[in-house]
Amino acid sequence: MEPINNAGGNAPSGTGGQGGGQGGRRHFPHRGRGRGHGPRVGGQPGSRPLNQSRPAVPGRPIQSARPSLQPRPMQPSRPVPQSRPMQSARPLQHGRQVLQAKPQMRSFGTGKDKLRIIVMGGLEEVGRNCTLLEYGNDIIFIDMGLQFPEEDMPGIDYIIPNMSYLRGKERNVRGVIVTHGHYDHIGGIPHIVPKIGNPPVFGLPVTTGIIKKRQEDHPGAKLNIKEISVDDQLVLGAFQVEFVHINHSIPDAVGVIVHTPIGTVVHTGDWKFDFTPVDNKPADFQKMTDIGRRGVLALMGDSTNAGQPGHQVSEREIGNTLRMIIEKAQGRVIIGTFASMLSRIKQIIEFSQENGRKIAIDGFSMKTNVEIAKALGYIKVKPGTLIDINQVDDYPLDKVIVMCTGAQGEERAALMRIANGDHRSVKLVPGDTVVFSSSVIPGNERTVQRLKDTLYRKGAEVIHYQMMDVHAGGHAKNEDIKLMLLLFKPKYYIPIEGNHFLLCENAKVATSIGIPRENIFVADNGQVLEFIRGEGRMTNEKVNTDYVFVDGLGVGDVSEVVLRDRQELAADGMVIVTALIDAKTGALVSIPDIISRGFIHTQDNKKLMDETRERLKTILRDHDPKSAPDQTFIQGKIRDEIGAFLFTKTQRRPMVMPVVIEV
Ligand SMILES: [Zn+2]
Repeated sequence: MEPINNAGGNAPSGTGGQGGGQGGRRHFPHRGRGRGHGPRVGGQPGSRPLNQSRPAVPGRPIQSARPSLQPRPMQPSRPVPQSRPMQSARPLQHGRQVLQAKPQMRSFGTGKDKLRIIVMGGLEEVGRNCTLLEYGNDIIFIDMGLQFPEEDMPGIDYIIPNMSYLRGKERNVRGVIVTHGHYDHIGGIPHIVPKIGNPPVFGLPVTTGIIKKRQEDHPGAKLNIKEISVDDQLVLGAFQVEFVHINHSIPDAVGVIVHTPIGTVVHTGDWKFDFTPVDNKPADFQKMTDIGRRGVLALMGDSTNAGQPGHQVSEREIGNTLRMIIEKAQGRVIIGTFASMLSRIKQIIEFSQENGRKIAIDGFSMKTNVEIAKALGYIKVKPGTLIDINQVDDYPLDKVIVMCTGAQGEERAALMRIANGDHRSVKLVPGDTVVFSSSVIPGNERTVQRLKDTLYRKGAEVIHYQMMDVHAGGHAKNEDIKLMLLLFKPKYYIPIEGNHFLLCENAKVATSIGIPRENIFVADNGQVLEFIRGEGRMTNEKVNTDYVFVDGLGVGDVSEVVLRDRQELAADGMVIVTALIDAKTGALVSIPDIISRGFIHTQDNKKLMDETRERLKTILRDHDPKSAPDQTFIQGKIRDEIGAFLFTKTQRRPMVMPVVIEV
């Protein structure tokens, strides 16, 4: 059994189920009345002070010149002599380069011999993971993810890392290394990479497969995607990069080892240890030990499940439970899970095959991921096992499995439509077994509960992870983290990937095995960490990490001001007041017109409408018929006074939009 809130890390990629720009959850908050500051007046977008949040990704063209030392994928690593001094990268045949030997810890002065690590996202939230390493004129990124919007961000699809810091430094970016194919690690790529000089993007096959697929939604920008293997080594300016195989809920997840002139920095990506994984080998403990023995300056580690005791459950154990459920089920089995959990999906497909059932997949991103995994040979399916979702009725109930997205109660996802009877092909019948093979992302509890209510009402057998072990997270728990720390033996530990409290929990794990507290850096997004001559410190320097919102096709064009308008509209609606005035005198020509949207139903509130009209007449009474009317003044007056009037009458603060027309 797993505690209810273990889900964090899979959230973004999971809810990314719908994929692309339309995929974000949309929440319209129902806020209490108490918010705000007295009667809210005004209402025209832009009429209020514009604070912070500039669009981060500069729209101007970027210099295309790339430095001569181009990063390229390496040949499979061969053992490197430990004692030889580090050579500078030299080109090999076929334009390849190889890391010759372990880097030496140079000891030199301050100034430019400084390694800066800046985590641009993922230190204050789950998602938007993005880490920047900078040494001299060389910059590399590890991951460039998206974050799904909070409840108070209506209409926002997702949020991407802020790249203001890179302005003027675009030509220094040597590459973007991607740890795995989840949206909270790749989601910013289509928006950011083309604007920072199109540096190469490195990832293992499943990762690059998903990045390429997603790029089809952004045909304008052609990326330079380099598929690598876990044994490859890269030379990216001053950085020499290798990889270590770790386990996660998706194949081809790696940890990244960056040898810098100051020392070695290891970034775990999302990880867990799985001794019996279903899609790959256990994590490469040998390599971790080896790297640890050679000395690790800093380890950056996933915090998602750091607050939980014990070891993460193996994916295979979950499989055993799922297999049992499938074998025992008399009728149809409908399994809701995250599209991002390819390892789980693979198992479910295999079990259907074993059980002589056909399997239909519903959910765009789930289907896409299965296609990618099939093409790469990660999922092997006999012909005829996978059927189209509209063929489910062609088979007896006990010969069918439906696997779909929507286990978080997402409104438009397959499981919700099945439950509500809106699904075009799958109608729920008593005796169906519905399995929630995912934990509930904090914040989604109520929707999931309602979804379960509907399923129970319709006679389905509902199984979720609190009843049986049908979900294991892809993230390390306490004891796993301890083992990781003991293998790498880092001098400094930098908890990443999680809300602040999760970083603190992760830090606690590190202190519990003897890492001094002062060597653990719990930083905020954008806080610069500096390493000089093998010593690290958290500085007070902070780069801009303000939200960059993606809404439909717009990137960074939705500012805090626009968002606040949306919040206000969502909370209290709007009132449009149209007044015709005499162009010469300013006198009201006819009775003002009032339109309400989301505030009150005007037909049912005739009295209030009449009172408002009377009020408008008073406001617009012309005290100075000899002078021409002042539009701005009149509009402001309507906003202020009608706003205040409606607040006293209703305790609501609709956005008041005056339209004054001179005739
Ligand atoms: Zn992940």
